[in-house]
Amino acid sequence: MNEQEKLKWIVEYIFKDLNLSDIDILNKYPRRNLPEGVRVTRFAPSPTGFIHIGGIYAAMLSERLAHQSEGIFYLRIEDTDKKREIEGTIEMIVKALNRFNINIDEGFISESEQVGNYGPYIQSQRKEIYQTFVKKLLLEGKAYVCFATPEELENISNMQSQRKELIGYRKEWAIWRNKSLDEVIENLKTNKSFVIRFKSNGDFNNKINFIDLIKGEVELPENELDVVIMKGDGLPTYHFAHVIDDYLMGTTDVIRGDEWLSSVPIHLELFNALNFDKPRFLHLAPIEKLDGNSRRKLSKRKDPEASVEFYYKEGYPVKAIIEYLLNLVNSNYEDWKVANPEVSIDEFKIDISKLKVSGALFDFDKLDYFSREFIAKLSADGVYNYVLGWAKNYEEKLFNLLFKNKDYAVSIFNIEREGEGKKRKDIYKWSIVYNEIRYFFDEEFDTNTIDINLISPVNFEDAKLIINEFILTFDLNDSLDIWFSKIKDIARKFNYADNLKEYKLNPDNFKGNVADIAKIFRVALTGKTQSPDLYQIMQVMGQERVVTRLNNFVKLLN
Ligand code: GLU
Repeated sequence: MNEQEKLKWIVEYIFKDLNLSDIDILNKYPRRNLPEGVRVTRFAPSPTGFIHIGGIYAAMLSERLAHQSEGIFYLRIEDTDKKREIEGTIEMIVKALNRFNINIDEGFISESEQVGNYGPYIQSQRKEIYQTFVKKLLLEGKAYVCFATPEELENISNMQSQRKELIGYRKEWAIWRNKSLDEVIENLKTNKSFVIRFKSNGDFNNKINFIDLIKGEVELPENELDVVIMKGDGLPTYHFAHVIDDYLMGTTDVIRGDEWLSSVPIHLELFNALNFDKPRFLHLAPIEKLDGNSRRKLSKRKDPEASVEFYYKEGYPVKAIIEYLLNLVNSNYEDWKVANPEVSIDEFKIDISKLKVSGALFDFDKLDYFSREFIAKLSADGVYNYVLGWAKNYEEKLFNLLFKNKDYAVSIFNIEREGEGKKRKDIYKWSIVYNEIRYFFDEEFDTNTIDINLISPVNFEDAKLIINEFILTFDLNDSLDIWFSKIKDIARKFNYADNLKEYKLNPDNFKGNVADIAKIFRVALTGKTQSPDLYQIMQVMGQERVVTRLNNFVKLLN
């Protein structure tokens, strides 16, 4: 056999069952022919059983950029690392995208159904495609078979670190790069395990430049590693799959985490070797958090809030998380929203030039703010349905309580919600609802445990008299004005100022003011010094419950 025949033999031996040609594949994945400016983007998660909030952030950005340009956004499952795979993740991802209103045009629409002409959209089903191009590179002498064992690789890196050289399978260290084809054939025949490596022509001392859509012009050393493109199990590595898929699927903008930035030289070299047009790149800095005084990346292991599951469990309405993430993407979102309260958030246009070059800082106060605002605008029925739906999955006792007492619960949620008055903003996630409303329910709230000292500065003797006086005249049918004038009458009677202005002018003339009087009732009914509107609370609790609780509180004061 001459050299050419030997190479053919090797390739046929390795890819016995492969009967596609690269031309067939290129024909099957025609260029998308989209007008200038139209973007094709993708979300390419690995099915590891975990959805990082940063993944949703990136997916949301990618989807918006595609759809804003009337382009295509697709979902590709990157499952080439079989060891890390966790069953059920595809379904999780599809559901999360649905929940976050991130609409895909192509890819998985359920655990088992894919749509779109550029599929399959899962890498393990694209093995033949990758292998066809691996085969092409082998025949062109741009790739080679490597039988280096784990021990040999370890030795190489040990020697490199001793000599303070760049670590990696490269240049003269690449022991299989220049082996004879006879030796390759011999090893193949003995069934030794092997990988296929790309034969790099780069040089680490040369620089390479490219434009990143956020970072601008980036200069990095050329790649000189002979990276693995096909692993021992016949599947491609990330580098190779990325290049093949993003080219064939017509991605115009690769938007991904900036942990991939340093690999761009490898990717550019592979695009060139395959004669593929290159996409644009946009590398996102990770979402960070404050840890003490320093910032660090949100960590999957250390920070529960790295996972979307955390937000579901805490009961943040997804719409509020979307708004929060939009604001992380482009910090002018908040102003836009205030200026356009009635416009759908889908209309907000993302501007790449406003993306942060360094990592966005996760800020729970801001998330809570968006959430409070969102919840404040819901109807009482809306809140009821949201909380019920959440509690069904996460808090059984709350679910039962709401389910059994629907009308009462809706009227509780309706406090400070309708009409022109101030809107309540106490609720910002569903997991706090139980604690915020339990005092309305006799079976959930032991009035004997109320801390009577909360009524300070009013003394216990005055408080008893005041409560008894109130009970005598309390009528649930009273309007707010009448109800309040009765409280003011009581205030005056016990030498408390009936309005704050008067009190502030001459505090020494009074024992306190009308707010101190109201506080007694608030504490007696709710056990707290802060609550939504007291008049409305009484209206919802009803005559009997109010009087019973007040009487009970008098007993506590004795
Ligand atoms: N599967 C890769 C990851 O999860 C995707 C990176 C990319 O978007 O290309 O990091």
